[in-house]
Amino acid sequence: MKINLREIEAGEAEFNFQVSPEEMDLFTPEVEFLEVIETRVKVTGSEKQQLLHTSIETKVRCGCSRCLEPVIIPLRAEFKLLLKSCGPFAKASGPAAQEEDLVLVADSDTSFDITERVREAIILSLPLKPLCRENCKGLCRHCGANLNLKTCRCEEQKLDPRWSKLKELM
Ligand SMILES: [Zn+2]
Ligand SMILES: [Zn+2]
Repeated sequence: MKINLREIEAGEAEFNFQVSPEEMDLFTPEVEFLEVIETRVKVTGSEKQQLLHTSIETKVRCGCSRCLEPVIIPLRAEFKLLLKSCGPFAKASGPAAQEEDLVLVADSDTSFDITERVREAIILSLPLKPLCRENCKGLCRHCGANLNLKTCRCEEQKLDPRWSKLKELM
């Protein structure tokens, strides 16, 4: 996903990318990507610096963190980068400046690859504790029943096995 920096000297440009999750190296055991990664980059700026406003959209399927049922979640992420030209000796791959979103590029660079940034943004936007519904009741700790679908009788049996173990020790 390369932004052609020479194309935006005029002031404004837009770039659109559709990249498959495989191409982006997005493999996680918990999350399945259902759609391509749609990336739109709006670029504004001058010859010396450009502001990249990137928005990303895709859709994932993962397991509910409480009941383990599959959940489909539309994923959205956004980030801004400021590219600054800093003379012929700068290296685009050098250490980032103080500000997180400031990237120094060499005068000689004709393009900037945002693939790694997009990848990071997607990973950061993945839900840590996805839920199938806000009030998901989860699984019964004793019999494993999905409490959204049925009620089990475990809670009625007040004797917790852990307590009986304790009693044995006393
Ligand atoms: Zn659930
Ligand atoms: Zn139960």
